[in-house]
Amino acid sequence: MGLTYQSTRGGEKEVTASMAILQGLAKDGGLFMPSGIPELDVPLEKLASMTYQETAYEVMKLFLTDYTEAELKDCIARAYDSKFDTEEIAPLAKADGAYYLELYHGSTIAFKDMALSILPHLMTTAARKNHVDREIVILTATSGDTGKAAMAGFADVPGTRIIVFYPKDGVSKVQELQMRTQKGDNTSVVAIRGNFDDAQTGVKKIFGDKDLEAELAGKGFRFSSANSINIGRLVPQIVYYVYAYAKLLEAGEIDKGEKINVVVPTGNFGNILAAYFAKRMGLPVKTLVCASNDNKVLYDFFTTGIYDRKREFILTNSPSMDILISSNLERLIYLSTGCDARANAALMRRLSEEGRYEVTPEMRVFMSDFAGGFATQEQDAATIRRLFDDTGYLIDTHTGVAAAVYANYRKESGDGTKTVIASTASPYKFSHSVMEAIAGREGLEGKDEFEIVDALSALSGVAVPQAVEEIRHAAVRHNRECGVGDMKNEVKDILGIS
Ligand SMILES: *Cc1c(COP(=O)(O)O)cnc(C)c1O
Repeated sequence: MGLTYQSTRGGEKEVTASMAILQGLAKDGGLFMPSGIPELDVPLEKLASMTYQETAYEVMKLFLTDYTEAELKDCIARAYDSKFDTEEIAPLAKADGAYYLELYHGSTIAFKDMALSILPHLMTTAARKNHVDREIVILTATSGDTGKAAMAGFADVPGTRIIVFYPKDGVSKVQELQMRTQKGDNTSVVAIRGNFDDAQTGVKKIFGDKDLEAELAGKGFRFSSANSINIGRLVPQIVYYVYAYAKLLEAGEIDKGEKINVVVPTGNFGNILAAYFAKRMGLPVKTLVCASNDNKVLYDFFTTGIYDRKREFILTNSPSMDILISSNLERLIYLSTGCDARANAALMRRLSEEGRYEVTPEMRVFMSDFAGGFATQEQDAATIRRLFDDTGYLIDTHTGVAAAVYANYRKESGDGTKTVIASTASPYKFSHSVMEAIAGREGLEGKDEFEIVDALSALSGVAVPQAVEEIRHAAVRHNRECGVGDMKNEVKDILGIS
């Protein structure tokens, strides 16, 4: 038997990879974790000459051990195709001494495409393998990017429906339009009068509702998740770190065995956790720099060992990182306890009941591969502007947080290790804030969203991506809105079972 999966809270064990993907969240509210982290079994020098798709297979086969070679290769081929605007899928750009790993060349121009292009295929394959014939209802909370990427992946996929909840005033104009113009009869979008944490907590609550589950089962539905709590999101995200290292090796930018640092603009802790998994698989990575915006709960955690969500939620110009409850941190906490599900469950209970927990000194030592940093909105904007003025390279506001944190980390630590910065969105997804960063308020005056897009293109010389052109004239198809307490009723209404 290959790798199995278990809940971080101990309530479920020995689940296959395909079942873990199908379920999304474990029944006890925990997250699925593999029974061990496998080592890469192909030398990096060999990976250096491989395509993205070939690399994806070499990484994912080690985790998704109950998928056949043909199944996995088929999922990979369907996911990483011409939906991406470059054959490299995740190209590296060198600017100002760092390597920007551009993860935004997929159909919705944010890094969520990297995993959400393949998740629908992994999930429908899992349903087939496990003889599941109920319709899969994907419930997703989004801080702006997951929702669109998940809908793009699941739109019109037979046997699936997708319902997305986003914070009404917490996303960019482009993000909102991208979601509300989504096509596909199986897609639904709901704006909630609350923030991302409210949306995520509400979705988790619906998952844990046993009565609703039974009611749905009777009507031929089962829930799953496209959020990064699904292990089917995490595994495809490991691939691009391995790929980036291999491509740096191929280009002669690093020597065999040379360690690199990785900086990741972080929200739900999924992307950086994937980088950590890559390190544990044997990728030569030294430090993982976790970059936060003004919602710096993770910075505080890595510097004090105390996780405290009881604080003001700040809406920033990097909205996909406006999060106070970083779900995937639970996986790291679990590992740091020596995979002690009971100890982890106790901490998570404290988080939900008291809003805070503290880890032990031993657990902190375990996490010493991580360094925390944060950047304010002003620092973010100044960094975007400086990089653009100095090099002509344009980054979005999330990547700007990472770049600002990196500059600070480098200065304070004196650590000159070569560094990959995860670039998580196209600057066009946040045109308004990016334009303001490089041209000041005058750059925005009298312009609507699409005039800003065009001005940004004229100024930067970067072509407007197809994903933005598509929404310029698209009709709005989704108008639902509800309060935080009404999410369950909204789901029932959408599914026609109320
Ligand atoms: C989702 C997102 C992030 C945060 O990633 P996590 O995996 O949630 O930490 C950062 N930047 C952008 C643009 C995103 O869409």
